[in-house]
Amino acid sequence: AAGDAGGGQHKFFDEALNARVRADVVLTAELRQAIQAGQLCLHYQPKVDARSAQLVGAEALVRWQHPVHGLLPPGRFIELAEQSGLIAPLSDWVLDAACRSLRGWADAGLRALPLSVNLPASALADGRLPDRLEELMRHHRLHPASLVLELTETMLMQDVDAAVEVLGRLRAKGFGLSLDDFGTGYSSLGYLKRLPMSELKIDRSFITDVEHGGRDSALAAAVITLGSELGLQVVAEGVETVAQSSFLISRGCVLQQGFFFSPPVPRAAFEQMLRSGSTLVAGTAAAA
Ligand code: C2E
Ligand code: MG
Ligand code: MG
Ligand code: MG
Repeated sequence: AAGDAGGGQHKFFDEALNARVRADVVLTAELRQAIQAGQLCLHYQPKVDARSAQLVGAEALVRWQHPVHGLLPPGRFIELAEQSGLIAPLSDWVLDAACRSLRGWADAGLRALPLSVNLPASALADGRLPDRLEELMRHHRLHPASLVLELTETMLMQDVDAAVEVLGRLRAKGFGLSLDDFGTGYSSLGYLKRLPMSELKIDRSFITDVEHGGRDSALAAAVITLGSELGLQVVAEGVETVAQSSFLISRGCVLQQGFFFSPPVPRAAFEQMLRSGSTLVAGTAAAA
């Protein structure tokens, strides 16, 4: 009898698991089509100088306009893409779409701002990446400095020597290199010194309680100092309140991204921001 109950439990979990696995299999098959069918799109989140709320750049974030499930966030399909070999065509689509946007903004006479894109862990394993990206920029008549490649610590840790080599070539060609979600991995400082980054993004998890004077404040302040000393641009991600924004400014981190300024928005809405003089809110310095 006890066995029955246990079996029933297992059956329940097995069925739930099976349903999830089946849904993932279907979604993966659909994703294969979605890339060609034009169902992917990019949203754009402003990066601002928080003192004035002036737009200084943006991050492109992929979404999937699914015909049945609606707009899916990357959290729902990037991992599936990584497991199924679809991440390469997906990344190629993202990079090309980002470049098409940059080209379009330049052609429309809008202010030139660097655009950041997120690369998957597998990207640096391809030694041809620097040449391929350079060719892509040439194709779209863009300068490499208009593109910032966001990478996470954990992906760089997989093969540090290879990463340092490929990153060095990307940097030499003029691409921006950003270390995303900084502080969530476990990279040593010595390792950070070896990476030819141009930017460091403090992870959102340190920003949440940053203004309360606890550990997060100390860590954020230390990362800001560290990044500045290494000559890196330091960006705070996930800034949601004026208090967080003000604290970060007071510690010297003026480059900020987050819902306080703007969530990621569709291209048309972002172009509206680019056209309208690009000051998003009153500015933290003024508001505080
Ligand atoms: P990420 O690169 O760290 O991007 C920041 C995420 O935080 C975005 O979620 C953004 O919408 C969200 N965010 C921004 N400001 C705030 C805020 O103030 N509060 C809160 N709670 N969240 C905020 P999203 O767009 O769902 O992307 C999640 C992750 O998916 C990204 O994290 C990135 O790692 C990955 N991703 C997004 N686009 C791509 C892509 O084109 N290719 C690859 N390989 N990964 C991508
Ligand atoms: Mg990012
Ligand atoms: Mg991030
Ligand atoms: Mg993140």
